[in-house]
Amino acid sequence: MAFALRKSRRHFSERYGVPGEVNFYAWIEEGSYSGLRFNDPDLTNWNPKDRQSNSPEISSQMDLFAKFSDWHLHAPLRNIFVGVVPAIQPNALASAIIDDCPCIAISAGLLSSLDQCLVLWESVYRVLAETITHPAFKHMTDREAMDLYFQKFHGKGVGVEMAKANSLRRLLLNADPEFIKEALADPHGMEPPAERVPTIDRLKQPRRRIASLGFVVAHELAHVLLGHVCHAATRGYAEEKLARHREVIDRLPFRNSSQRDEVDADLFGFHEILLGSFREKATRVKMVPRGERDRQYAAMVGQCLEGAAIATLALHLVGSAGEIPTGISTHPAPAIRIQALCDAAQDCLTAVLSRTSEPDVGPRGPGYLTRAAELPRTIHSAYEIVASVVDSAK
Ligand SMILES: [Zn+2]
Repeated sequence: MAFALRKSRRHFSERYGVPGEVNFYAWIEEGSYSGLRFNDPDLTNWNPKDRQSNSPEISSQMDLFAKFSDWHLHAPLRNIFVGVVPAIQPNALASAIIDDCPCIAISAGLLSSLDQCLVLWESVYRVLAETITHPAFKHMTDREAMDLYFQKFHGKGVGVEMAKANSLRRLLLNADPEFIKEALADPHGMEPPAERVPTIDRLKQPRRRIASLGFVVAHELAHVLLGHVCHAATRGYAEEKLARHREVIDRLPFRNSSQRDEVDADLFGFHEILLGSFREKATRVKMVPRGERDRQYAAMVGQCLEGAAIATLALHLVGSAGEIPTGISTHPAPAIRIQALCDAAQDCLTAVLSRTSEPDVGPRGPGYLTRAAELPRTIHSAYEIVASVVDSAK
């Protein structure tokens, strides 16, 4: 097993030129973007021994997936190296090198963009909370909800976030040399301005970060497990699991089979890797009692779906920076991907909640099941709103 992981790491190093045994951060500093600080201090303390990534944060996420996902996936997941490459391009990809030995590359640009979107999401969410708790929200269309939101949004001083989104777009857009010069002058320029957003929920922030990065990693792992990049023994198992989302998938307007592969990877990554592992960990480690598991499932669907929405938003942000080529893309539009994620999550949630015998009460009192059932719609509305904030930042 350790041999397969070492092989994956070696292929990764050969392909991306990221030496396996040196301090990764020092390596970035020698590179062409010397002085530009990305948001991931973890990269400074990489200990290469037996880790599944050169980022300790991703490594611990991989440990979680390999240990708590469905047992069919344990062995294949332990063999994959997920590396961060010091590229400014906003992408992640799974690739097969030789000998069917897959590895995954995530660019530092994408990590930066995820951090930025997390801050955008949280800034906007405060105002959004006022919108979705409005008595009329239940009966509003998405458009009406958005209008109400923007009424409340004006005058809240969230404009600084738009400026940040704008800066990030310039950075990602062919690594705009002007912006890089500015960023070099201000080493903290790309840090998330969390301290300037006073009412961010500090408890939720790390969870949102884990869920959004986790979704990106889970999506790429899903490509490997579904056999999209090379032969995979897990393919039959994975396709069987996907069968329960057929209705959602069949409703979507795909332009080619690779767009379909992307949605398959989104749904398998979301349900079987990200959500599945979180849930199993809670059951095994925190020993959630039987009479709370359906409600715990609902809470985790919400948490993971928020992470997936933030990650999809990052794709929307970088896509609107011109990174996704015009013409028929290999990737479906982010709006289609978030729709598929929310619809599939809604179906699963409705199925669990409609037959639960657990009491209808949660941390905020009675009526929990109704509140939980609304999570996918709320997150979908939140996505639409934050995406239009990003669009208006041009
Ligand atoms: Zn993909």
